[in-house]
Amino acid sequence: MIVCRSAEEIDRLARVNALVARVLAELRTVVAPGVTTADVDALAEQRLTEAGAVPAFKGYHGFPATICASVNEQVVHGIPSARKLVEGDILSVDLGAKLEGFYGDSAVTVPVGRISREAESLLAVTAEALEAALGAVKAGARVSDIGAAVQGHVERHGFSVVREFVGHGIGTKLHEEPQVPNYGPGGRGPRLAEGMVLAIEPMVNMGKASVKVLEDGWTAVTKDGSLSAHFEHTVVVTAEGCRVLTRAPQAVAS
Ligand code: MG
Ligand code: MG
Repeated sequence: MIVCRSAEEIDRLARVNALVARVLAELRTVVAPGVTTADVDALAEQRLTEAGAVPAFKGYHGFPATICASVNEQVVHGIPSARKLVEGDILSVDLGAKLEGFYGDSAVTVPVGRISREAESLLAVTAEALEAALGAVKAGARVSDIGAAVQGHVERHGFSVVREFVGHGIGTKLHEEPQVPNYGPGGRGPRLAEGMVLAIEPMVNMGKASVKVLEDGWTAVTKDGSLSAHFEHTVVVTAEGCRVLTRAPQAVAS
C-alpha cells in the first residue's frame, strides 16, 4: 500500500529532510584530498546526534555507519573507512536520518579536488537526470514516468542506468512502497497521488550498467570498473508537481 501523508506528517518529513539536506551540504564542504571517508561519517553522525536525530542506515540490516561512502567505481552502499580521498576521486555520500518518527534520505556525488572532464560530465548528467525525474512527478503521473525521464536523459549522454537498486517510498519506514526504478518505459506502475513521499535516486555508470556486490556484502561496484554517480532527493507529490524536501540550504550572502 502506498501511503498519502497528512499535512502534519509532511511537516515532520520536511523537518527531518531539511536536516539531512543541511548536514549533507556541510559534508560536501569537508570532502578534500587527504580526508578519510570515516572522517566524513563521524561528522555526519555528530551533526545528526546534535540535532536529536538518529542515523537511519546505522544498524539497518547490520550496516555499520551513518553514511554510505562510495568512491569512484563504487555505486552505492560503500562502507566508510580509513581510505584517504585523493585528488580526482569522486565520492558519493548517501545520508539517512530519523526524527520525530519520520525518515529523511538524500545523496550527492562530490568531486575531490580537480576531477577529469569525463567525471565532471558524469556528475552533471546524473544531477540533471534527477531534475528530469522531479519534472516527471505530479499527481496523476505513473511511477515509471520517473524512471523513463532518468533513463532518457542518461542514455542521450552515452551513460547507463543501474537497474539493481531503485528509489522508494519513505515515511515512518526508510523504505516503503512503491519501488521507483530509474528506467522506463513510462506509463506503467502505480499512479502518483498528492501526499505520496518518494526518495528518487538515479545511479549512473560511465560504462556499462552491470554492477556486483563486493565480499563485504555491501559495497556495490560497476562490473567494468567505470565511475558511478548517485544523486537523491526526497519529494512530496503535489497536484502540480512535487515539493523537494532535501534541497540544499542556500548560502547566505554576506
Ligand atoms: Mg539514500
Ligand atoms: Mg534512498
